[in-house]
Amino acid sequence: AYAGVWFRGDVRLAANPAVAAASQVNGVERQIPALLLLAPGQMREHNWAPRKWDLLRRHLDHFVVDAAQHGVALTIRVINSWAEAPAAVVQFAQTHGLTEVHVNAEYPVDEQRRDQAAEQGLAEQQIIMRYHHGSVVVPPRLTTGSGGMYQKFTPFARAWRAEVAAVGVPRVPSLPQRSPVTVADIPPIDYPRQDSSAWVVGEAAVRQLLADYVAQQVERYAAERDYPGLESTSRLSPYWELGILSPWQATQELAQWSPHFPAALEQGADVWLNELIWREFYLHLMWHVPRLSYGKAFLEHTDRMRWRHAPDEFAAWCRGETGYPIVDAGMRQLATEGWMHNRVRMIVASFLVKDLLIDWRWGERFFMQHLIDGSFAANNGGWQWSASTGTDAVPYFRVFNPTLQSEKFDPEGHYIRKWIPELATCPSKVIHTPAAWLQAHGRSDYPPPMVNHKLARERFLAAFKEL
Ligand code: FAD
Repeated sequence: AYAGVWFRGDVRLAANPAVAAASQVNGVERQIPALLLLAPGQMREHNWAPRKWDLLRRHLDHFVVDAAQHGVALTIRVINSWAEAPAAVVQFAQTHGLTEVHVNAEYPVDEQRRDQAAEQGLAEQQIIMRYHHGSVVVPPRLTTGSGGMYQKFTPFARAWRAEVAAVGVPRVPSLPQRSPVTVADIPPIDYPRQDSSAWVVGEAAVRQLLADYVAQQVERYAAERDYPGLESTSRLSPYWELGILSPWQATQELAQWSPHFPAALEQGADVWLNELIWREFYLHLMWHVPRLSYGKAFLEHTDRMRWRHAPDEFAAWCRGETGYPIVDAGMRQLATEGWMHNRVRMIVASFLVKDLLIDWRWGERFFMQHLIDGSFAANNGGWQWSASTGTDAVPYFRVFNPTLQSEKFDPEGHYIRKWIPELATCPSKVIHTPAAWLQAHGRSDYPPPMVNHKLARERFLAAFKEL
């Protein structure tokens, strides 16, 4: 047997079961042939943010060197879309005389289709495609007692924890030393890039970020995570999304500090673990509910909603000019950093859908086009949660009041002032509703609220009730 690896959203060598398995099959005497396909047409179709591509591209500079040093003989090829992937994979396997190709499974429909086609193409040449689940701690096989899928997060999380308690934290041995091979060329692709240099790249450096976060900061997570001004979340989201990190490594790190993992965790770590389980819950939904991959709502009746066609209002939301400071601060953080704090993601999403009555899919697409951590599953899940169209979503009658959210989670306005320079000198007590203060100072550089929240809320509730 001779095994190769097809890298996709798992551009790392450590905690990568596909790489570990191929390494074991080949033994240390033989190198590990590997393939990575860049598909700019597919990236365009999937709305990859230019900043996300820049992050991956910068990471690849490190990855090709790490791979070569570990005897992983990587080829990077450019194709247009996934339709060309099966042929490219078969050709790669034949060129190297492989008998098996190892991959980490991906869960949205387009990727499943691509993999089925590749698997079939390989099988026709008597080559086996072997799947691993290195991008999740618990594979989406988890089912309820009666064999169905979990539709609600809480029972899913309980089952997830029980599974990890029973089988342990997943790990694979680190790669043995092999003779180094030539460093792969990274071919250019036709895709825009936007500066991601604020984000560290390279597997070792990113792994260190994770270790430091768990050692030094996670204990404050439960108390501080909802305050965007405190910057106390991990900011590791792009790394799980691109597969530079595996969530396996997060559980390993947490387990190291906590002998009874996943039970009896200190509160900060426990709440943080829950967020990682949310990530897996949304991947589990993608796997079990194909219509989510086709832009459909989980709660099908909500697709009858008559959303407003309001491109100008949508554009004002995109630019961060709604007149609601917390909403605008979030949208400007997104434009500037390609990232937004989770609490603010929920606030801006709720505002678009419930205050402006604009289709959540518009917001979902705009987020994908700009997020450095853009994840089809988590983004879709987050939007459907906020729009009350998802499973286990916020109930439709709970409409976030952007002003109250702002007063509660950014009480002194630190976050608002950071992202809205027009409000830099605005006193804290009026920063959440600055219109009168701005007017009194003869200022027109920041807009008044574009809707009256109370009326907008009633409009949304009436529209939703009709369904
Ligand atoms: P931390 O708070 O440190 O959490 C640790 C990890 O848990 C994150 O890195 C992430 O992988 C995962 N996680 C945390 N919260 C969630 C959540 N609510 N759902 C799923 N996973 C979670 N997350 C993305 O990774 N990509 C997206 O495209 C994305 N789009 C979103 C859109 C909306 C409308 C909303 C409300 C949320 C979205 N999220 C998305 C979830 C969440 O906002 C981000 O994961 C989080 O802000 C990332 O910051 P962090 O790494 O500091 O997270």
